[in-house]
Amino acid sequence: MTKSFICIVCPRGCRVNVDDNMNITGNQCKRGESYVLTELTAPKRIITTTARTVFKQLPRVSVKTDVPIPKELIYDIMNIINGVVVDKPMAIGEVLISNILDTGSNVILTKSCLK
Ligand code: SF4
Repeated sequence: MTKSFICIVCPRGCRVNVDDNMNITGNQCKRGESYVLTELTAPKRIITTTARTVFKQLPRVSVKTDVPIPKELIYDIMNIINGVVVDKPMAIGEVLISNILDTGSNVILTKSCLK
């Protein structure tokens, strides 16, 4: 049975198919092949969300993981982020939580949070 994936590595969004013999078609570059193989074995995602702050003028600030994390950890990582409060001015790109759950990924700000 052929499985279909939409490659999300770049905006082109190729539909990539994998048959039972692991023949991969539809990808327009090698990155699509790697993406599908990862999806089949150990899917990963970048988390983009917001974190609470103590600042009235910016009660929440956008954050993301700087590298993809295992999909099965999304819930646990969201719980950790939801428990954190930014209580000092921070610049875009600064690390809010380093090496979250030993994934090697940092949670970083994607917007400045300055008083
Ligand atoms: S297969 Fe290559 S060109 Fe197609 S969406 Fe993936 S990264 Fe982009």
